Amino acid sequence: MLVEALQGEVPLRRHVPTCLSSWKTPPRVLKSSQSAALLGVTDHGPSCAALQMFTEEEMMIKNTVKKFAQEQIAPLVSTMDENSKMEESVIQGLFQQGLMGIEIETKYGGTGASFFSSILAIEELAKVDASVALLCDLQNTIINNLIRKHGTEEQKATYLTELATEKIGSFCLSEAGAGSDAFALKTRADKKGNYYVINGSKMWITNAEYAGLFLVMANINSDLGYKGITCFLVDRDTEGLHVGKAENKMGLRASSTCPLTFENVKVPETNILGQIGHGYKYAIGSLNEGRIGIAAQMLGLAQGCFDHTIPYMKERIQFGKRIFDFQGLQHQVAQVATQLEAARLLIYNTARLLEGGKSFMKEASMAKYYASEIAGLTTSKCIEWMGGVGYTKDFPVEKYFRDAKVGTIYEGASNIQLNTIAKCIDTEY
Ligand SMILES: Cc1cc2nc3c(=O)[nH]c(=O)nc-3n(C[C@H](O)[C@H](O)[C@H](O)COP(=O)(O)OP(=O)(O)OC[C@H]3O[C@@H](n4cnc5c(N)ncnc54)[C@H](O)[C@@H]3O)c2cc1C
Repeated sequence: MLVEALQGEVPLRRHVPTCLSSWKTPPRVLKSSQSAALLGVTDHGPSCAALQMFTEEEMMIKNTVKKFAQEQIAPLVSTMDENSKMEESVIQGLFQQGLMGIEIETKYGGTGASFFSSILAIEELAKVDASVALLCDLQNTIINNLIRKHGTEEQKATYLTELATEKIGSFCLSEAGAGSDAFALKTRADKKGNYYVINGSKMWITNAEYAGLFLVMANINSDLGYKGITCFLVDRDTEGLHVGKAENKMGLRASSTCPLTFENVKVPETNILGQIGHGYKYAIGSLNEGRIGIAAQMLGLAQGCFDHTIPYMKERIQFGKRIFDFQGLQHQVAQVATQLEAARLLIYNTARLLEGGKSFMKEASMAKYYASEIAGLTTSKCIEWMGGVGYTKDFPVEKYFRDAKVGTIYEGASNIQLNTIAKCIDTEY
């Protein structure tokens, strides 16, 4: 039977999906490969600069942050980790350097720089301390940008001015029953005349201990499902808002992560950010941008860990030579360095797409997913390469390892990024 089939006397039944095109037909042109961004064409003509070629402004911010981080943050890192407390001088330093309002327009007291500059700042800070980088990241990529995009002129004048100069903001979406499924949130806001009354609770709220402003996602009508979710600007001293005890975390210990409760918290309707019922859109949009920031945080901390480890490997002698000279280790080092470079290019490219007004959702998820994965791998390898001393608190690599793990969890766990990437691919073919 088999021989007959091979001789063509009995046609072979080939179980091939009908959608599979034969090799003779030209390949389908994907929507994604038609994008102007991929062709390197911008409104201003072809743009061919390498991703690591920065503008003067970007270079200046990168160098300033590097100096600030090395001189003013590095000496405090281990104490802040030990005490689970961010030093006030670090917070003040971030404001003084203009790093809490990087994209905020100068008329509101901000730095008036680019999104890409924020990404470079987050990366440089994370090389020294990932908790400080997270403080800068959330303020710039989520809090400030939500108000810049959706705030009224009055809200911008009040809040952007404060956020650029003195006030920390917190983003309050997650709840005990609403993590990856964020829009299952139960916190509600009931309208009473010209104000709303918020009741409910939030979990995992970063910077809550130090925040002066909370951007709170609450549902104004649960019958509308996620289309009832609305964003409220809530001042810290509002009656009925309680900040709970900070979580005792494995990593990012200097960053406070607290639960919040809202007991009949009265918020004037003038404190609604943007449109009623558009909170879910704002959350999706801001988290898309925020993911590029988290990717930069993960890249920075992985690079910082690597930078601490390689010099040690070049000094440590075993079997009469530097451990860096063993080819078994050299190949691992080369592999990790290549992964760091790949993550950097993914992140920079996504930031450039965002700035160019192109679609960047898939790329942001790829950058966040990949940078988080390689941060875990890099920091784990660095501990191994340093041997026993890498496992102690006398050297900073174990802290980088602890700080890295959260990258695969917050602002969308790795599986959620993979879901997004797959959804995008589904629409491209
Ligand atoms: C340090 C820290 C800081 C945070 N800061 C903030 C903040 O400032 N504001 C805020 O609102 N939130 C914050 N979060 C919350 C964070 O965004 C959530 O932890 C995150 O969204 C995951 O939710 P979860 O912890 O409930 O995990 P779950 O949603 O319970 O997920 C558990 C596991 O299930 C997997 N999973 C879930 N759904 C799916 C699916 N559909 N397909 C496949 N796998 C799935 C996940 O990938 C994960 O591995 C923070 C969290 C931490 C740890």
